[in-house]
Amino acid sequence: MGNALHQKENSSQTAAPFLPVLLIASILPDVDGIWSTTVAGHHSILHTPIFWLFIFSGMTGLGMFSNFSWMKPVSLAIFLGAMLHLVTDWITARTVGIQWLYPFSSINFDVYPVQPEKGQIPVWEMIRDPYFSFYIENIVLLWFEIAMNGIAFILLGKNKLKGLSA
Ligand SMILES: [Zn+2]
Repeated sequence: MGNALHQKENSSQTAAPFLPVLLIASILPDVDGIWSTTVAGHHSILHTPIFWLFIFSGMTGLGMFSNFSWMKPVSLAIFLGAMLHLVTDWITARTVGIQWLYPFSSINFDVYPVQPEKGQIPVWEMIRDPYFSFYIENIVLLWFEIAMNGIAFILLGKNKLKGLSA
């Protein structure tokens, strides 16, 4: 019994940084929007899986030669968070897709046909017309995005309530 309790304590300690890091990592690829001049041009190396695979391998290697017990959950969270971003960018691509095979191929993969010419505007102009009207044109994607955000908020609310009662 004492042993089981101790194990539980340990597992919650190693799992603790996982979700916050995953959340931050899921927006990290869009950091390239800061130095990009256009919406369609902002998919830099940060929007390729190989970049995050390198980060993950580097951190895993560092973790093996060090005593940082947080390295494993943190590196996994960064990798999964970034991949989550890439997958959703790929599904919801409107002006530019994801180069899944970079650097072996620079093919841009997308789920729906993209219109790169509509993305020849500064990133901050995404929130207004004409880009905004173009953005909401794909009804399926729009509702997919609204539903995903809705589900996230419901789960967040549930967890908050659970946290209060615990
Ligand atoms: Zn992105």
